[in-house]
Amino acid sequence: MKVFKFGGASVKDADSVRNMSKIIQAYQTDKLIVVVSAMGKITNALEELLSLTMEEREVTTPLEAIKDFHQTIINDLGISSDEVLKKDIAEVFEQLENGLNEFSSSMGYDYMYDQTVSLGEILSTKIIASYLNNQGIAASWLDARKVVKTDSLHRQAIVDWGASQAMIKSQIKRSIEEGIVITQGFIGSNSDFKSTTLGREGSDFSAAIFATSVNAESVTIWKDVPGVLNADPKKFANTVLYEKLPYKEAAEMTYYGASVIHPKTIKPLAQKGIPLYVRSFQSPEDSGTTIEESIVPNLAPAIIHKDGQTVISFKISDFSFINEHHIHLIFEHIKRLNLTINLMQNSAISFTVCMDDDPKKREQLRTALMDEFLIYYNEGLEMITIKNYNQDSINELMKDKQIIIEQRSRNNFQMVYKV
Ligand code: ASP
Repeated sequence: MKVFKFGGASVKDADSVRNMSKIIQAYQTDKLIVVVSAMGKITNALEELLSLTMEEREVTTPLEAIKDFHQTIINDLGISSDEVLKKDIAEVFEQLENGLNEFSSSMGYDYMYDQTVSLGEILSTKIIASYLNNQGIAASWLDARKVVKTDSLHRQAIVDWGASQAMIKSQIKRSIEEGIVITQGFIGSNSDFKSTTLGREGSDFSAAIFATSVNAESVTIWKDVPGVLNADPKKFANTVLYEKLPYKEAAEMTYYGASVIHPKTIKPLAQKGIPLYVRSFQSPEDSGTTIEESIVPNLAPAIIHKDGQTVISFKISDFSFINEHHIHLIFEHIKRLNLTINLMQNSAISFTVCMDDDPKKREQLRTALMDEFLIYYNEGLEMITIKNYNQDSINELMKDKQIIIEQRSRNNFQMVYKV
């Protein structure tokens, strides 16, 4: 069995769905589980809808835009006469509208978010399953909320691996007999059968959950890039495609902020030795990148860029030195506020961290520690990490930059600079 994952960009209009269907057709003889995201930018549109509802503002226009977007795709695909699809889509929108009408702040934003935003994936997979069947590709629709079980940490739900794997395994065994299985990424449900989501861009992780449950032969993520590149082509010229990457390298790249694969995807696949292919849906004949257990000598330096960074320094003003007590105190509050450090450095009298900028939490951190330290910060910064650096790559990237912090270890070089 193989698992394919198609993200929003690969199903953003009727032409993309036709292209996806062609790719699937080429693998029709394989047993396939196809994990799909919401179409195009629908997750953002649903987030916006919920924000407007919370602010008690009018939602008719954006809601109609979401309906029209899906209806146009249905019409363009020539499946508007599918009565079952028509009924299913109408039901999803009814559920969406009822949910928004009943919204009250006592329900909690994160809970409502999951009930609202998860519907994007339901819409996309209903349409795609209908289209594939219309094309003569037998496809059965599976509700991921029935089989991906999680806790109730809405928007960042933690997967119950034991329950999910058992349910996926037994459900897929039945569904796969009917043909290709079309299911949703990103979503699951808690023990009360309420929808949960796994974090933005979480569909890659869903693909890994399905793959490990059925001991799949491989996972393929179909993307709008040729594979895993050594840098973001939108930001850097002359990028290099990795034909092969060890799991460890790929996982570390996601840790430093490479957005090509969701950070939680690699670990479960590596534990089961399931290879991950990252390939282009625009040129499906190319083999892209293979991520698996391997030794790849002389990997090109990977350049990972992160914007929206802030550097905060905690200084001691009484002529004593930074010690474990101070660092412990700083970390206690960083942990309490659920902040993540991207880089840290200490000197005799100060401790400095670089983090994703969150002005609200930064202020909370400052308030909590202002009696102990003099606190300084810079915001609006960017960070570059070079994995497997060489001096040329550092020189090239440091050119013309006003560096705030730089740091290097045996394999990694990091710098934070002013934009
Ligand atoms: N639709 C979700 C998002 O846009 C999940 C995903 O695409 O991976 O974040």
